Amino acid sequence: MDILEYMSNQKYEQLTMITDPGVGLKAVIAIHDTTLGPSCGGTRIWPYESETAAIEDALRLAKAMSYKSAVADLPLGGGKAVIIADSHTQKTEAMLRSFGRFVETLSGRYLTTTDVGSTGRDLEYIRQETKHVVGLPTTMGGSGDTSVMTGLGIYVGMKAAAKEIWGTDSLSGKRVAMQGFGKVAFNVAHHLLKENATLIVTDVYKGAIDKARQMGLEVVPPDEIFDVSSDIFSPCALGGILNSITIPKLTCSLVAGGANNQLLSDSHGDELHRLGILYAPDYVVNAGGIINVEAEIGSPYNIDRARERTERIYDIMENVISLSKDKNIATYKAADLIAEERLASVQNIKHLYSGN
Ligand code: NAD
Repeated sequence: MDILEYMSNQKYEQLTMITDPGVGLKAVIAIHDTTLGPSCGGTRIWPYESETAAIEDALRLAKAMSYKSAVADLPLGGGKAVIIADSHTQKTEAMLRSFGRFVETLSGRYLTTTDVGSTGRDLEYIRQETKHVVGLPTTMGGSGDTSVMTGLGIYVGMKAAAKEIWGTDSLSGKRVAMQGFGKVAFNVAHHLLKENATLIVTDVYKGAIDKARQMGLEVVPPDEIFDVSSDIFSPCALGGILNSITIPKLTCSLVAGGANNQLLSDSHGDELHRLGILYAPDYVVNAGGIINVEAEIGSPYNIDRARERTERIYDIMENVISLSKDKNIATYKAADLIAEERLASVQNIKHLYSGN
């Protein structure tokens, strides 16, 4: 990949390559855009099969964070870090503290938090070397587990989309098929069950399946979740799961879930649009986590502020649907336009979708 050319075309600001051989650290920090504020995004710890794969992932995820924060109306830009390591066997205090010292060298242009492979405990190590950390455990004055607010945001986004489809935002009696029953899915389920929705769930992890069964939920094998008859499909596990194999199987009218990068490619968002299946863009409805961590920046964490801002995802989802209808474009495109419009307006350049 011609990295500088790619970064220039996609408007990336910075890519930092990091090594500290003494502690086995190889990492990348990608900063996409700091127009709206410091870049913010988690540190992913993953045993990438190549450096190129790690760089591509960091860049792609950093851009998604710019768009997520822009649409959620947060004063944050987009960034992401990846550490090339197996989080189960290679992660050490020394590695994390070394990484923290590199984050410190960026002087606040990048704020880190948890992601796949990193935990609150890891953030505590990083915090020993830099103050540019958010999403710390509540015992350290942080906002703690992000999945509570992420679940709330998905739920309210789902309701706004339901209103468009069924004329009411009540989810009572709706059949919701959930892929993955981890932290986010559990929090979405909490709200859905209170509203008397019916949940059919799947997971590859026995602990998650046991939890679902204890809650009295119907459980199906992982490869059957797309065949379940449902009103709503809620992807809460992996990315790339809306693709040419799975989309033809969908029986639902609405897709709304927490997983990042659900569309394998943009064309699959267009295909959902063509089929009349309303897709709630992943980064629009799963922004509760970043909203939650933003609520601890600059002032003591305030859960009411985080909740109130997360509930605004309802209105944001309505705006996405409205723009999608006005322009007859897929919802993922409408969300991108709203993000680009906000970035452009702050950069004081011409509006992208207003026609001015
Ligand atoms: P998690 O690890 O708690 O849950 C994910 C679950 O998916 C696990 O139980 C796992 O066993 C299951 N799973 C993995 N592959 C599967 C498969 N093929 N079929 C069925 N189940 C499968 O993670 P989480 O925090 O709940 O996050 C879920 C998704 O939401 C991820 O894509 C994450 O990036 C995204 N997300 C999370 C947050 C947050 O606040 N935690 C915020 C935004 C986005």
